[in-house]
Amino acid sequence: MKFFFPDSQDQIDPSFDFASEERALHRVRQRDDRYAHEVLVHPPFDGILVSKTIVDGTRQTTGKYTLAQRHRLYRNGARRFFRLDHIDGAPLQSMGDCGAFSYVREDVPPYTPEEVIAFYAECGFDLGVSVDHVILGFDPAADDPASELGAEWRRRQQLTLELAAEFLAACPARTVRFEPVGVAQGWSPRSYAAAVRQLQRMGYQRIALGGMVPLKTGEILACVRAVDDIRRATTQLHLLGISRCDTISAFASHGVTSFDSTSPFRQAFKDDHDNYYTLDRAYTALRVPQVDGNTKLKARIRAGRVGQAAALDLEQACLRLLRAYDAGTTPLTPVLDALRGYDELFDGRCDRTDAYRELLNDRPWQHCPCGICYMVGIDVAIFRGSERNKRRGFHNLFVFHQRLQRELATITA
Ligand SMILES: [Zn+2]
Repeated sequence: MKFFFPDSQDQIDPSFDFASEERALHRVRQRDDRYAHEVLVHPPFDGILVSKTIVDGTRQTTGKYTLAQRHRLYRNGARRFFRLDHIDGAPLQSMGDCGAFSYVREDVPPYTPEEVIAFYAECGFDLGVSVDHVILGFDPAADDPASELGAEWRRRQQLTLELAAEFLAACPARTVRFEPVGVAQGWSPRSYAAAVRQLQRMGYQRIALGGMVPLKTGEILACVRAVDDIRRATTQLHLLGISRCDTISAFASHGVTSFDSTSPFRQAFKDDHDNYYTLDRAYTALRVPQVDGNTKLKARIRAGRVGQAAALDLEQACLRLLRAYDAGTTPLTPVLDALRGYDELFDGRCDRTDAYRELLNDRPWQHCPCGICYMVGIDVAIFRGSERNKRRGFHNLFVFHQRLQRELATITA
């Protein structure tokens, strides 16, 4: 089972000083900043997934890459750009896709198969996913051809299949080195199975199931089971955007050999509660936002409801006390009081004291082997600014990878 991590140019600056919150004077982002696979003790994934929409944008959206980054990726190829060959262990793979969720509101995908093949070939990916159009909906009742509901869904599925046929036909002509991956879109177990059957007939041996991100685990499993019924023994399945660690062994038993997901990383700073992973649970990170960076707090300061000096004092007291607690020079209660006091300034509606007490009592970062926690200590558990938040995201990827290995070991055991 291979795990691919979708790239969004998430890197950390190793020169960042957590005490002064300053960076090295001569830092050059592309040269000095580091990806997750470069800073953890071992890569937390088997490969990276790069979406064309993230790199190039569409007519409606801008990508996440600067012009210089785009040029460098195209010129050097993904292996050199992501420094995939600079790490020990099994070689990391690269996969390209279109990023179909970012154009889901459009009538048709913004790229032709030719454009996408050129992107994959220039970037030198190992795997290239055909052009697809996501179906936003799940309802087996739409299997009835007379169903009003299914008309647009059927159009999108048909379009995705036609684009997959064009994509595959255009691949050998350009003597591409990537392995083509066909995408199946559907709205029910039966419709996914029908799409996979057609993709197999076209000649695809690797098929990605798309549009499943909003589905419940049971619905995904039902689709994968239906697909497995018609799957040729040589066909390998990829789940796009799915990470349900506890069902991964069930997926594996139905021919799923790879998947991708950003959620372990993003939960570090997007989730309300589950921000810091350990093997068996997740903790709430300690919120100490910057006075300068928090719009709500700045508005309250402008309105005269909070004094700026008092806010800055509380912010610094929280950071100082957290570090002292990590060093064992202060007890827990003053730390919790400071966090609660600061929290009341900018939000206050949700009292996180119990969650913070659990995290601070357990100090999970002190015995985490990921390579980041050991280096930065309690700062990895502080919800504040991208250098801390992304490090926690990388740590989560490491733990997710460990959970995955543990889960997979139960299959082979
Ligand atoms: Zn860690």
